[in-house]
Amino acid sequence: GEDLTGRRVTVAGLGVSGISAARALVRAGARVTVVDGGDSPSHRARAEELAAEAVAARLGDGDTLPEGTELIVTSPGWPPDSALFAAAEAAEVPVWGDVELAWRLRGPDAAPWLAVTGTNGKTTTVRMLAAMLEAAGLRTAAVGNIGTPLIDVVLGEQPYDVLAVELSSYQLHWAPSVRAHSAAVLNLAPDHLDWHGSMAAYAADKGRVYEGNEVACVYNRADPATERLVRAADVVEGCRAVGFTLNSPGPSELGVVEGLLVDRAFVPDRRQQAEELAEVTDLEPAAPHNIANALAAAALARAYGVPPEAVREGLRSFRPDTHRIEWVADVDGVAYVDDSKATNTHATRASLAAYESIVWVAGGLAKGAEFDDLVTAAADRLRGVVLLGADRARIREALTRHAPDVPVVDLERTDTGAMAAAVGEAARLAHPGDTVLLAPACASMDMFTNYNRRGEAFADAVRALAADRTAEH
Ligand code: ADP
Repeated sequence: GEDLTGRRVTVAGLGVSGISAARALVRAGARVTVVDGGDSPSHRARAEELAAEAVAARLGDGDTLPEGTELIVTSPGWPPDSALFAAAEAAEVPVWGDVELAWRLRGPDAAPWLAVTGTNGKTTTVRMLAAMLEAAGLRTAAVGNIGTPLIDVVLGEQPYDVLAVELSSYQLHWAPSVRAHSAAVLNLAPDHLDWHGSMAAYAADKGRVYEGNEVACVYNRADPATERLVRAADVVEGCRAVGFTLNSPGPSELGVVEGLLVDRAFVPDRRQQAEELAEVTDLEPAAPHNIANALAAAALARAYGVPPEAVREGLRSFRPDTHRIEWVADVDGVAYVDDSKATNTHATRASLAAYESIVWVAGGLAKGAEFDDLVTAAADRLRGVVLLGADRARIREALTRHAPDVPVVDLERTDTGAMAAAVGEAARLAHPGDTVLLAPACASMDMFTNYNRRGEAFADAVRALAADRTAEH
């Protein structure tokens, strides 16, 4: 890895990723200063903790470049147009993200990376992939934008054969030298445009994941933008473009044939047409977006040489993370499902496509999104809609335009207690056989600390409803 002994490094951001970066840098012999625009008691407590480990901190100023800085290591959330980076550019000081730091310190020597990015489905896909690799007897971990900070895994004692790495567009933006064994871009839809500045810049950052791939660049046949990114990437000679599709696969693709997930890309015997991997019903939920995630994960696993049986075993053992299309309870014949993680319209579209007759609970912070396409696509499956949160009017207007016959209850509330009221209204709208689906299409911060809290509030309310009904009967 890179020799940082004696180098003066400024870490931008005193969060989880910044703290683990600062510690890794100290171990690498660097002289470290952490800067953060905040100066709250919790910032000061963290700074004090780091001071004991020979890390200097400067709080209340995230804009100016500390004297003598030779390198900046930034946290993923730090805005790319910040004054700090402008100052760094003027002074010709390089900027690395947390992922770049991990790569530079030990990346390629620790283990090859199978990387996943995309607007939605990253965490699910990376965890499916890790389950497949584990089933094949490989030492692996799901890392990156999830779980243990990548740097801690890469620099840790424990040996790995291969890593399943989730990379956000923010992380890719600041990771110019990372080279994955193989990588997948799941899909591209507008999100985080405030951070990246434009859709083109966002796509370009995602496309970075393919740069220097060795074995396979995995793309989504239904999303031509992902294939364009493959064509634009500079890869190792012999690296293949491998598509995945929910339809019958062409050569060099993975797809679905009569309820089976099928691989036509990594078939060892040329006379053989295809390799059967798993049944669609092995997946939970067996919804289209999740089949896509499974195919992408399978493509990466197969690129690494995982046999079909391990792909299947991995998929069968896989359970979705909390708040991602998570079944909560059945009450009076109605299923209640928590997809609080659906924080944008693209994600919500996938979960609305997974059910036939839906009472949709939605609303929150819209982040500038448009809801017309989403409502149009789902209109004929909506039994009713319950709206809450700051930007609910935007959704209500789209419903008025494209689904005027669907009953809408607008709670006109943004307090935390509104979720329990929403569940009560949804229960009144639902008929036996329906699904009440929390899939807000919005961020949660207007009402909750994060999407986890929002999902918990929903699940708590559903369980209270179930208890009430049991008491009544
Ligand atoms: P990420 O890590 O990219 O945020 P997750 O796996 O946590 O993705 O899923 C986020 C949300 O996106 C889920 O709650 C689900 O509604 C939706 N989703 C998952 N996979 C896909 C996909 N392939 N396409 C569209 N939406 C998806």
